[in-house]
Amino acid sequence: MTYFSDTLSIHAGREEFSDLGVHAAPLDFSTTYPIGNLGNGADELGSMAHGNRPESNPIYARLHNPTVGRFEDAMATIEGGEAGVAFASGMAAITAALMAAKQKGNHIIAVRPLYGGTDHLLSSGLLGLDVDWATVETLHTVKRDDTSLIIAETPANPSLQLINIKKLIEEAGDIPVMIDSTFATPVLQNPLALGAHAVVHSATKYLGGHGDVMGGVIVTNEEWAKELRGIRVATGAVLHPFAGYLLHRGLQTLGARVRMAQANATLLAQKLKDHPFVTRTYFPGFAQCDPEGLVGTQMRGPGAMIAFSLPSYEAASKVMESVKLLTPAVSLGSLDTLIQHPASLTHQVVNESVKDDLGITAGMLRISVGLEDVTDLWEDLEQALEQAQSNLQDYPELKVV
Ligand SMILES: *Cc1c(COP(=O)(O)O)cnc(C)c1O
Repeated sequence: MTYFSDTLSIHAGREEFSDLGVHAAPLDFSTTYPIGNLGNGADELGSMAHGNRPESNPIYARLHNPTVGRFEDAMATIEGGEAGVAFASGMAAITAALMAAKQKGNHIIAVRPLYGGTDHLLSSGLLGLDVDWATVETLHTVKRDDTSLIIAETPANPSLQLINIKKLIEEAGDIPVMIDSTFATPVLQNPLALGAHAVVHSATKYLGGHGDVMGGVIVTNEEWAKELRGIRVATGAVLHPFAGYLLHRGLQTLGARVRMAQANATLLAQKLKDHPFVTRTYFPGFAQCDPEGLVGTQMRGPGAMIAFSLPSYEAASKVMESVKLLTPAVSLGSLDTLIQHPASLTHQVVNESVKDDLGITAGMLRISVGLEDVTDLWEDLEQALEQAQSNLQDYPELKVV
């Protein structure tokens, strides 16, 4: 089985282009397709309702779209899985995975920290699932006969904690494990190669890469892909063909973008760590954030996400409001550098005590490092930190630690 390479990322899902006589992916916006032979059309429809890809006629756009299908094939190739199944968003993909699992057993084990939306979906009871929270170490204490899925995220959001996927899978035994690998991208980590049953990405982030497309994708074996397609047909959380086109195109620069952002992040993380006003810096490239040495083994690099702590909420909000080049916004994986405040934004919906346990403090900020010149990025961050620091005079009770 092959996994990510730049060559695959640039060419996958484009194999038929020379036969078609095109260089860029054809965009197919059809919502319905002419049915020449009724018997064949009925067979195609029946087969797709059970989660198969069409032989030739997609029949109706909620069942299949060829432009989206090429993105799915490319994702399967670069994650080293049998099939990719794309959805309207990352949350739609995660929801479909939970619904597929529910058909086999109502008990789900989730490893925190997770993306705020995933945490919320699991703790809200919306899907009627019985959820237990565990760590790799405590997993064996909550496993049950009806546990149908274990879901974990690495690097985790926002503290960039790494989870040892191999160890998690050993502890899981026969229970399928799905890894949310959004932060790592297929460039830096391929969970299927380590034995995961499925890998999910919010394609809205690095895969699209330009902050202008929303999507989600799961790569897994054909058997599970069939179930996911069946759920997608039933629930309608399809990816729009134009989004499929943009995501497929995004894969062609994915390796270059991730490596360039990662190089910037490595420099910025060190600068932040050395800054006297910053009380803690979270970056997988630092030994204290990666005690098991997973960068270089499980991951090909530390990635381009950094979190850091300031002494107070006031300091953090002042930095976020003082940046001029960095974009004060949620999300990640865009070309431009984004800065946000997890406690009040991405992780607002997470229970307060859980936030404390996860170290999501009032003074924490998270940066998605982009591709700008790193000297410009640091200049902007440094002036924002200076403003927050001088502003601290207004809060004499807060001491810099
Ligand atoms: C953004 C995100 C999601 C949700 O994806 P959407 O495309 O916003 O629905 C899930 N997991 C992680 C790690 C994310 O960053």
